[in-house]
Amino acid sequence: MKTQFTFAMLLALPCLAPTSHVNAAANWRVDILPINICNNDGTVCANNDGEVWEDVGDKIWAQAGIDLHFLPWSAVYNEALLSLDQCERGLMISNPAAYGGSNDPTVVNMWFAQNMTADGTTQGSTRIFLNWPYLRSQGGGEGQRDVPFHELGHALGYSEHFGIPDPDDPFGKSSNLMAGGDFRKRYEGIENIYPDGLGRDRLMPPQIALILMSPMVYPIPEPASFLLGAIGILSLFVLGYRNR
Ligand SMILES: [Zn+2]
Repeated sequence: MKTQFTFAMLLALPCLAPTSHVNAAANWRVDILPINICNNDGTVCANNDGEVWEDVGDKIWAQAGIDLHFLPWSAVYNEALLSLDQCERGLMISNPAAYGGSNDPTVVNMWFAQNMTADGTTQGSTRIFLNWPYLRSQGGGEGQRDVPFHELGHALGYSEHFGIPDPDDPFGKSSNLMAGGDFRKRYEGIENIYPDGLGRDRLMPPQIALILMSPMVYPIPEPASFLLGAIGILSLFVLGYRNR
């Protein structure tokens, strides 16, 4: 465990410099595989319209310079799993690929269930389970949109909840993304995600530094270096042509 963590830290060290640019353009990417749990013939699925609230997740995780990349949908056709219990989740954790997921340790599996004992839960670093109808129904469909991305925070390395209450909050609640469900200030629309509006679902610099060490977070080339590379290759072609 310790060796793995040190190794991950070493891998991430050369990449830590851009973390000071909070809210800068995305420098990092996380691959998420959405998996629809469906009945045996596929006529009923937990997530019928294919929504994943990517706009919300992208805005939250832009604080760490991370762009969420949802892979094409996968599905598992087994109506016994539509309502997930702890035992079934355990089986899915041990072998995601047998349940529509990916066994690639750099891909986050996100299963959409129709019912579950918890509204959203993370088990193991790459497994997220969501009680989709419940999350959708809260707060007029707005109340729980940050839950999948709070769970992603656990998947990327926060094993604990961060619970520093906002100094001005009379109920001792926190606007931090990684505060626990009862303790986190509720989601109030994408326009109130930090740094805008009410500043909800905030990430602090030490949290961001920790998350960027996850093996599931990897750098994406900046457009500028793409452009420079393209200009370089083009110049070589031009020079080659002229020298003929
Ligand atoms: Zn949590």
